[in-house]
Amino acid sequence: MPTIFTHPAVPLALALGLGRSALSRRLLLTGVVVSVLPDLDVLAFRLGIPYAADFGHRGFSHSVLFAFLAALAGACLFRFFRSTFLQSFIFLFVATFSHGLLDALTNGGLGIAFLWPWSGERFFAPMQVIEVAPLRLSRFLSLKGANVLWSEFLWVWLPVMGMAFTGISLRLALNRYSTKPVPKAVMDG
Ligand SMILES: [Zn+2]
Repeated sequence: MPTIFTHPAVPLALALGLGRSALSRRLLLTGVVVSVLPDLDVLAFRLGIPYAADFGHRGFSHSVLFAFLAALAGACLFRFFRSTFLQSFIFLFVATFSHGLLDALTNGGLGIAFLWPWSGERFFAPMQVIEVAPLRLSRFLSLKGANVLWSEFLWVWLPVMGMAFTGISLRLALNRYSTKPVPKAVMDG
């Protein structure tokens, strides 16, 4: 997995790109929570469930169905988010599902059970460019940890922040265009 600091990059970048008026702070915060939610499955190790099992690490909680259900449950709170059901659902689905996609780009562990419960097959992305984060903290506090953070910066933070700044630039350009003063001759008819 990428580290717990990196999964929230996707909802944060989306919020930055879309702007404050499009997304409430409550919805953003919930997006951050659901972006790390699938990794609660590491509890499976403590329960003696094998990594490769459906309920093991990177299993059911990293699937499309899990993202769909988490987004559906979250979107029911759309009034609390001061948003619409559809907007809440889409944002929370993207935030949750992006977790498995980022994991699939890592170069370690087992693949992701995207298709659970229809298939237990584990998938990786065609390119595994992100250094996998060690599950043990002691291993993370070493040169390995620095390599992981660098690869996450390069392959996650840089691209998503690039997209966020593209969104910001587009919004600013649209605002400037829509608030352009009407020439006097047009106003006079
Ligand atoms: Zn994960």
